[in-house]
Amino acid sequence: MSYVGPDFDPPQPRRSRRRPLTVAFAALVPGALLGWLVYEAVGGSGDGGGSDQAGVATSSTASAFSSPASDSASAPSPTDPATDDDKQPGSSSTPGTSAPAGSTPLRGKVVVIDPGHNPTNFEHTAEINRKVNIGTNSKECDTTGTSTNSGYPEARFTLDVSRRLATLLEKQGATVKFTQDGDRPWGPCVDERAEIGNKANADAAISIHADGAAAGNRGFHVILPGSVHAGAADTRKIVAPSAELGERVAGNFLRATGSAPSNYIGDGTGLVTRTDLGGLNLSTVPKVFIECGNMRDSKDAALLTSGAWRQKAAQGISEGIVSFLRGS
Ligand code: ZN
Repeated sequence: MSYVGPDFDPPQPRRSRRRPLTVAFAALVPGALLGWLVYEAVGGSGDGGGSDQAGVATSSTASAFSSPASDSASAPSPTDPATDDDKQPGSSSTPGTSAPAGSTPLRGKVVVIDPGHNPTNFEHTAEINRKVNIGTNSKECDTTGTSTNSGYPEARFTLDVSRRLATLLEKQGATVKFTQDGDRPWGPCVDERAEIGNKANADAAISIHADGAAAGNRGFHVILPGSVHAGAADTRKIVAPSAELGERVAGNFLRATGSAPSNYIGDGTGLVTRTDLGGLNLSTVPKVFIECGNMRDSKDAALLTSGAWRQKAAQGISEGIVSFLRGS
């Protein structure tokens, strides 16, 4: 299945004005970055740089991972999907990154987490195929999402990472709300997902996904809202704070997971701006999507199906959100 992005639409062409990740995140992640640069310098470009069936811009600047996790002993076989799905979130969190006892720096802050898709959307095709108005045009209410080649569904991945993320944010004192928590048969529709963040007056909102691109395409990217003013969509006030949120999430995700930014979209920055996603177009609060990796690539799938890796992913996303909300 050709699938790139949370709504099956080909993302917009690469951003040209954003600085490369190597510059943008230099202050944030010197250690991880150094490792990545060293890896690049010694010629690690093994995966062939992401040819892409969906017509997405292909980057030649970031074609390999430096990820220490990608070859670690803890990464399970992709044929053994998510055996540790039910492990307690937080059980493998990085030492020294949780708040000290009694320290709740995010008290009073509201974070809305949007786990992409829904594990039982596929049983409700009529409902999720209904068109909804996203301001610029109409789109399907929701989509089923992708899966790894061994059958681990994106919708289970998104819920697992979201729950781990919620645990981490609540430890910091944040109030966390979900758009869905595996507690409804389908959806919600993308317009309702945005509305939940708006009604909560969220200080930050994030939609969790994993991509379904061709094998060989690897790495993560964060999707930022572009400026849209049409119909019910008006993102003009959230473009700047969402970019700030997204850059912090991307930088901390890179550092926490060791994963490289996408080698098939974003021109090596790990950041992509889109104006075709209802969940962003209709948001009135700072919001980004993250595509944590490519489920259709076996090396990325080995990471995505690892509970230990998902904990790192949640840790990185959490630290990005905390950084954004604390303005530090
Ligand atoms: Zn998705």
